[in-house]
Amino acid sequence: MRILIAEDDVTSRTLLAAVLKKNGHEVVEAANGADAWEQIHKPGAPELIILDWVMPVMDGLEVVHRIRSRPTEISTYIIMLTSRDQKNDIITGLDAGADDYLTKPFHPGELRARIEVGRRLLEMQAELLKVRNVLAHEATHDPLTGIFNRRAIEAALSREMSRERRSHNGLAVGICDIDYFKNVNDTCGHLVGDEVLCGFVRRLETCLRDYDKLGRFGGEEFLVIASGVNADVHSLFERLCRAVADNPISTTAGNVSITISIGVKIMQENESMDQLLTAADAALYQAKREGRNRVCMDNGKTVKD
Ligand code: GH3
Ligand code: MG
Ligand code: MG
Ligand code: MG
Repeated sequence: MRILIAEDDVTSRTLLAAVLKKNGHEVVEAANGADAWEQIHKPGAPELIILDWVMPVMDGLEVVHRIRSRPTEISTYIIMLTSRDQKNDIITGLDAGADDYLTKPFHPGELRARIEVGRRLLEMQAELLKVRNVLAHEATHDPLTGIFNRRAIEAALSREMSRERRSHNGLAVGICDIDYFKNVNDTCGHLVGDEVLCGFVRRLETCLRDYDKLGRFGGEEFLVIASGVNADVHSLFERLCRAVADNPISTTAGNVSITISIGVKIMQENESMDQLLTAADAALYQAKREGRNRVCMDNGKTVKD
């Protein structure tokens, strides 16, 4: 593994580097604490550091303090290797955030074993972080289509609504529901239905602007959050409607033609999320009643297909 040695004494540093290299490690050297602090910030910096305490410019204890107060998820395993061998020094070093403490002169076998402890811990931490990221993704994404699930799109909407209350840039939501989707399942089968849902989502994604947000609200219903909209908001949703209706979705069982209905609501000052979504839902049902394949604004204005 890559190891950073911070040691001001050239002889000690050279000896230590030679021992580490003999054990198969790659070594990065720093001549003082400031130099080490700089190395730590470089991309791909070593995760394990062997740190002397007494050094010019910045001492090892200060480096430990700085590393531990970084707001980062990057793990750094710190072994202090110093001639300061009093109990109080050991306590101070470990309390500051060092993971291990060795006194000079070091025993090569002990150093090797302690580095292995560090490596095991770093590997375990990396594994945990990976699992946590996978779980976080699963908790916020729809497994079928890969877009935000209901919880995540509602959280995004809550954030956008807070922003809108400050910025007044214009915020609209559109609930998109596939028309007669049950027929697709009944005629082509549920698996092809799934493919249609995925193809439909990819189609919507190509029509949305970078800062619009899309999530699966449930079943064959999807929520679009459009920020920075003006009075012409219906044209954005009309575009979605037409993009779906104009070309069939291709599946392994052939092309499947679908249409969607969209209920749109522009957020008003002091409107709650519940009120906003209820109004969009009412507009969606109006679009369904009026014949589907259309956009309906909550003010009753319908955009004909
Ligand atoms: P409407 O135009 O009124 O919306 O008619 P509809 O048939 O789309 O509406 P309905 O609510 O009767 O049916 C929705 C269908 O969506 C029923 C359900 O099986 C299907 N569906 C929901 N989630 C999924 C899914 O993940 N995969 C598949 N294949 N079908 C789904
Ligand atoms: Mg020193
Ligand atoms: Mg439907
Ligand atoms: Mg539905």
